[in-house]
Amino acid sequence: MAEDDTSLSEFMDLDLDSRTCNGVKQERQLSASQRRCYSLCRRKSFAAFVASKRDSRQEEGNPSWCCCGQIFKEHSDIHKHVARTHDPEIQQLAQDAYQCLLKQLEEEPETQQPNECETEPVDISAWIPDTSRISEEQLQKGPGKVLLYYQYCQLKDPHVICAWQKALCEKLHLTGKVRVATEGINGTVGGSNMATDVYIDAMRSHPLFKMEKEDFKTSDGGAECFKDLRVGVYKEIVPMGMDPDVLSYRLAGVHLEPEEFHKEVEALLTKPDENSDTILLDCRNFYESKIGQFTQCLAPSIRKFSYFPDYVDQNLDLFRDKKVLMYCTGGIRCERGSAYLRSKDVCKEVFQLKGGIHKYLERFPEGFYRGKLFVFDERYAIASNKDVISDCRYCGSPWDRYQLCSTRFCCQLVLSCPGCRQDGHTACCPACQTKGQAQSQASPSAPHHKEECECTDGRPRIPQDA
Ligand SMILES: [Zn+2]
Ligand SMILES: [Zn+2]
Ligand SMILES: [Zn+2]
Ligand SMILES: [Zn+2]
Repeated sequence: MAEDDTSLSEFMDLDLDSRTCNGVKQERQLSASQRRCYSLCRRKSFAAFVASKRDSRQEEGNPSWCCCGQIFKEHSDIHKHVARTHDPEIQQLAQDAYQCLLKQLEEEPETQQPNECETEPVDISAWIPDTSRISEEQLQKGPGKVLLYYQYCQLKDPHVICAWQKALCEKLHLTGKVRVATEGINGTVGGSNMATDVYIDAMRSHPLFKMEKEDFKTSDGGAECFKDLRVGVYKEIVPMGMDPDVLSYRLAGVHLEPEEFHKEVEALLTKPDENSDTILLDCRNFYESKIGQFTQCLAPSIRKFSYFPDYVDQNLDLFRDKKVLMYCTGGIRCERGSAYLRSKDVCKEVFQLKGGIHKYLERFPEGFYRGKLFVFDERYAIASNKDVISDCRYCGSPWDRYQLCSTRFCCQLVLSCPGCRQDGHTACCPACQTKGQAQSQASPSAPHHKEECECTDGRPRIPQDA
């Protein structure tokens, strides 16, 4: 989940306890890594189930849960209740999550399979910081952070960088994902405040990267935000499906600091007529812009960043002679996204928000970006203002907390409010809900259903609208 790894399977990152692997019989047939994955799915489903019972009317910091008509004030009490009473549901959820994960792996093989760092004898020790004066306690415990960063730069030997990153993150007990390519590095890592500070120092002292402290976007979190650590060598540091040798980040649009970007948006909003030559373009995926976006932006209906080039190709006239202001989560997608747009040679100018929404919100928490910021880890979203800009799929009341569709093999996210969940609307759409009910009545050996519902029908791979 280095920024925007864009596939929902990443986002879901599921987990479970091997006990419930559709009975013990099947469990024995699983390999150790499958078991780990399944166990992860179960823990995840359990946590999600408990979270769904949280009473949202309660004040932050004083949580309570409501389940089966009872109120639970203690975390441990709701946990006990769910474990005792809802095991079959958890089992089902876990099973679904696991199947979903497997299916995604089968269906969308990363065209860019990461090459796990080989254990070639390369000397990386020089770039590993001395942490002998820091206790393990400080590295692993206490409040933490999630760091998001990227740096485009020419890396001759990404495998050496990969090995170094792996050793560094392991030493600091960081989790998350780091993508290394010949075009640079992109990472999202979580850990304790001490560990992330040491990581930033180590990155900054490496001569290849020339990074500043401001190049790291930070938010509250920690190692618990990711299920593991994944470091690999890829073709691109953000998957757009364009060879970096063909489309270089060097073609990127002009960077605007948050203050400059803010002024541009302000101008666009206060004098809409005079600025009709300006387009504010959100280059993230539809489910990200749905729960948070800049006022009056153009938000393409794309499911993955690798569809962005197609989107641009199909909508060139929209951008003709326009000044385009682009933004994304942390800025990385805009680098090559703007490069792609510029390569079409239709826009008057292309600008990009430096540091993305992350940096903008640090400077303007109550600015022109409204709603939540979707993040690709277990936090799902981070909030800087209280606006809820999206609605419940079923009743239309304001709601912006995503959950996974309850139907097995479906990997769609759904916004269904607590009331509608109570009424049984837990699938991504009515069609999928019906399918889910049919599945639960059928025998477990019933053939797998393909993920097809109103949601997938309604979102062609290449968007026609704009
Ligand atoms: Zn209950
Ligand atoms: Zn609702
Ligand atoms: Zn569904
Ligand atoms: Zn659906």
